Amino acid sequence: MYYFGDYCALALVAILSLFYFPDRRFLTRTSKLFAMCLVFIAANALLDLLTGCHQHWIGSPIWVGYLVNSAYFLCNLLTTSCIAQYLALKILEHVYGEHCIRQMRILLSIIFWPFVVIVLLNLWNGWLFYFDQQGYYRRGPLNAVGYAAVLMQMACVTVCYLRNRKYVDRSLSHALLQTFPVGVLCIVLQRMYVDIMLNSFLLSLVALVLFLNFQGPRPGVHSLTKLNDRIRFFKSVKVQIATGKPFQVLLIQVRHFSEINRRFGYLAADEILYQFAFSLERQFPQASAFHMNGTEFTLILPSATEISSQANARILLDFLDGGIFCLHQQVHLSYNVVDYLSSSQDHKAGELYEKMAYALRLARRQDLPYLRYTQNIGSQMLRRQYLADRLQTIDQEHGYEVWLQPVFCCKNQRFCSAESLIRLREPDGQLISPEEFIPLAEETGQIFQLTWFVVEQVCRLLQDPRMDSLSAVSINVPAQQMMATGFLDNLNRIADGCGIYRNRICLEFTERSIPGDFSTAKEIMEQIAGAGYRFYLDDFGTGYSNFNLLLQLPFFGIKLDKSVTTSDSGRADMALIGELTHLFHRRNLQVIAEGVETETQAQALLAEGVDRLQGYFYARPMPPEKALEFYGKQ
Ligand code: C2E
Ligand code: CA
Ligand code: CA
Repeated sequence: MYYFGDYCALALVAILSLFYFPDRRFLTRTSKLFAMCLVFIAANALLDLLTGCHQHWIGSPIWVGYLVNSAYFLCNLLTTSCIAQYLALKILEHVYGEHCIRQMRILLSIIFWPFVVIVLLNLWNGWLFYFDQQGYYRRGPLNAVGYAAVLMQMACVTVCYLRNRKYVDRSLSHALLQTFPVGVLCIVLQRMYVDIMLNSFLLSLVALVLFLNFQGPRPGVHSLTKLNDRIRFFKSVKVQIATGKPFQVLLIQVRHFSEINRRFGYLAADEILYQFAFSLERQFPQASAFHMNGTEFTLILPSATEISSQANARILLDFLDGGIFCLHQQVHLSYNVVDYLSSSQDHKAGELYEKMAYALRLARRQDLPYLRYTQNIGSQMLRRQYLADRLQTIDQEHGYEVWLQPVFCCKNQRFCSAESLIRLREPDGQLISPEEFIPLAEETGQIFQLTWFVVEQVCRLLQDPRMDSLSAVSINVPAQQMMATGFLDNLNRIADGCGIYRNRICLEFTERSIPGDFSTAKEIMEQIAGAGYRFYLDDFGTGYSNFNLLLQLPFFGIKLDKSVTTSDSGRADMALIGELTHLFHRRNLQVIAEGVETETQAQALLAEGVDRLQGYFYARPMPPEKALEFYGKQ
């Protein structure tokens, strides 16, 4: 019974060591200290067992007894010093107060060294312990002085905590709340049951608390910020839904964090993220904060009304605009916030999050720092989900139709080219506009297949003799797809397979879709143009229009966007179109005006020297059979 505590301590230390695998490359001061704690606790228990052995081998020399017992006293205090140091480091981890750490070390050694002196003096005066004439161990008058030293160490940690509690995160407060009672219990129990040696066992319990709170894997907690993780988020939302009470969820995405990584370095950027999470949690003490992943955070707030939820959102936005004080400076982060007020329709945590994630995508796309989730966004999302399913399961040959919109040539006054425009036919016969499903197909990558389908349909149409009057058909292709390997080979295979002159195929893409690597884009376009195909720049006037760069690419023509050609047909706009046309003509580029809806517009554009006109005034997009008829008659 006497050594029961020591056996338990050894077992616990052995178990903790089995689960404690600090990454050797990133050994921090705290993880080294923790390892030292484990070693000291094991040494404590072993020394205690040795003291017992000495008692039983009455014959063994008395100096062995003094040596082992003195070592035991010192080892005990070394262990508690290590634990105190560990806690102080944890408290000061994000304060970056090296001088605080130094002060703490000095304080702890002020407590430790006099104790060492007492242990040494004990060899002469027996104040701590001594051996009587029969060789039995006896407690001296200062036997409990070690506990006084431990209490002083605890006082140091408490002062350190109180002085820096502004920076201390919740998990540390929890750990301290658990460690201190264990420490006090250790002292009280040991004083009450002097015959059972509990010191080592209770120290190992403290190590267990530290392990569970800091060193070990902590399920449900994000390793970087120590906030609850996404699994806990879903659990909490589930519980909230079950209570039936309204609540608010705020989703925060910190944006352009790669920029922060570049500017400050990865370690400092981690610290910024930590401080962000920490301040976020402080800012909303009534909320539960979660670190979902990367730079995405959520807050769940009990919020009963529209007004209180708006107030919460306001506080959050003010907090975000204020920036984070970190690394001795104010760091400003850009962000998107989605604000969601739960409704009685919410049944599943996953669905709620999906809605928020969709709203977040919208906010990002539209560059909105704040977006409140509405029913309207909900219906948009449902529609999108429907379309996504539809695109997944659609049978290309029967679901899609390639329509043509004739383009009018001003020079020879007839329709000499066309643009192919895809349509999605619903089972009930209705058509879905490409404006709705093309962005989705681009996101999912299905656009690649779709482009090839359009290319094949267009080539087949061009084989028809009724299309002989048609000089070319434009196909919309995302620039990224053109840059992909094998694009030209595939295009050649289809066009040559149908026996179509390559210059009857024009590829249209927008400036926005040109990838960042401009020189590679140029090189590939030159190869494709060299093979005989033509390029048009689509939607001119809607992008950023870096003229100099654009004009270096081998375009055959430029398509002026509807927004350029339809702006009230005021004089100034027409003058601008005139100047642009002039400029493009000087560069040997053909100019096509899109969105021509009225005769006045057409006349004005003709007067400015535009080469081709496309729009409802001339012809609307039409299904292939109609197009064949249309051109056949021509
Ligand atoms: P876009 O390439 O700018 O195509 C022109 C759009 O303007 C077409 O819309 C056409 O119907 C419409 N339009 C033509 N004349 C007029 C007019 O006078 N007034 C007005 N208000 N609109 C006119 P549509 O067919 O709905 O296509 C929308 C967009 O979808 C296209 O814009 C293009 O970006 C994309 N798209 C269409 N088909 C394809 C395709 O096969 N592949 C790819 N990647 N994108 C496509
Ligand atoms: Ca186009
Ligand atoms: Ca266009």
